[in-house]
Amino acid sequence: MQRIRSAQLYEEAQQHIVGGVNSPSRSFKAVGGGAPVFMKKGQGARFWDVDDNQYIDYLAAFGPIITGHAHPKITEAIVRAAHDGTLYGTATEHEIRLAEQLKAAIPSMDKVRFVNSGTEAVMTTIRVARAFTGRNKIIKFAGCYHGHADLVLVAAGSGPSTLGIPDSAGIPPSIASEVITVPFNELDGLRLALERWGDQVAAVMVEPIVGNFGMVMPKPGFLEALCKMTREAGALVIYDEVISAFRFHYGSSQTFSAFPDQDAIRPDLTALGKIIGGGLPIGAYGGRADLMAMIAPLGPAYQAGTMAGNPASVLAGLACLEVLREPGVYTRMEAMATRLCEGLQASADKHGIPLTINRIVGAFSTHFCDHPVTNYEEAQGSDGEQFAHFFRLMLDRGIYLAPSKYEAWFLTTAHTDADIEETVAAADASFQEMAA
Ligand code: PLP
Repeated sequence: MQRIRSAQLYEEAQQHIVGGVNSPSRSFKAVGGGAPVFMKKGQGARFWDVDDNQYIDYLAAFGPIITGHAHPKITEAIVRAAHDGTLYGTATEHEIRLAEQLKAAIPSMDKVRFVNSGTEAVMTTIRVARAFTGRNKIIKFAGCYHGHADLVLVAAGSGPSTLGIPDSAGIPPSIASEVITVPFNELDGLRLALERWGDQVAAVMVEPIVGNFGMVMPKPGFLEALCKMTREAGALVIYDEVISAFRFHYGSSQTFSAFPDQDAIRPDLTALGKIIGGGLPIGAYGGRADLMAMIAPLGPAYQAGTMAGNPASVLAGLACLEVLREPGVYTRMEAMATRLCEGLQASADKHGIPLTINRIVGAFSTHFCDHPVTNYEEAQGSDGEQFAHFFRLMLDRGIYLAPSKYEAWFLTTAHTDADIEETVAAADASFQEMAA
């Protein structure tokens, strides 16, 4: 497969855009470097690059594109927004409708505020927690990524990990010292941290189902104990559901059937993003009414946004949720993901390539290792060079994976049985080549 135009554009991009990309996770640094692919068009589960190569898309733009590219309902919503004016700087009725729908699906959110990205959503939940508790410290889990705000960019998952930047430069030690990082899926670290610093901890922040060092479920009882211990310390529980909300079912982790006792895992605050904007920029945070009342104009904690709740993002989000409410949507994505994972595993086994697959409904991660992956350390222990080799072989066969061993494969409502068959065949040929 030739990607001459992509290579040319990459040369050009580097002269104007730092590193040639507007988000480091789009670069191919973690998979051997070189020019990333420049795309020009997407339709359904496929997209096309500037050299006219076609790919089946499992990146789904790192999660948001759950209905596939250019879904007619979402396109129609965006066109409507464009016709009516994209920004007024005033309140609109659309924002109320999306807030209502988020609250109905995620009942721990009494009140919602829209922002422009997951990063902003997370950042502000921390501000709310600090304002409410009068405490400064945050506990987070190794490998969970919560966006690029200073506080949460410590030991932070997929993007930074693959680039070898566990702690970003430019973050003052005074800020880093307010963050305590403990292992996911293991309660001793959290218990010790709370014993030592509990009375200074404003919040414990977690991806309740992890999407940033592969797809990783919390072990049975982990979230329940996390919530209990955090509350006993007088701190708040913040769920970062930027990936997990509306990914596995119509709702979020906190309403997912895998967790039978939903009262026991109810967070105080939740951060959202990605899917809820239907592919346009968005973030949202919400939670208990008394906590959300800390935010201006009601309370003393300030947070604002020129673009926040803009009609285009909100209407696209409403259209996306409408598609996700159609019967059978998640069951279908799960059935396809299951078949795909079975095919990948059988083929890897046949060619003697160690492969651990973590699948949750229609999303999964592939780890080149022969041990389970339940925490960041185990994910780090998978073979990055083998992943990079596999990534390149799949790319040349027209299958687009996220360019990092830590990132997930996402099914969309647009993937078809034929896509799955083509992907399994491409993987079989790739594993065969790797084994040779
Ligand atoms: N939280 C999680 C769990 C994420 O995966 C991400 C992005 O990948 C973010 C927060 C940050 O969201 P955004 O990139 O929209 O700022």
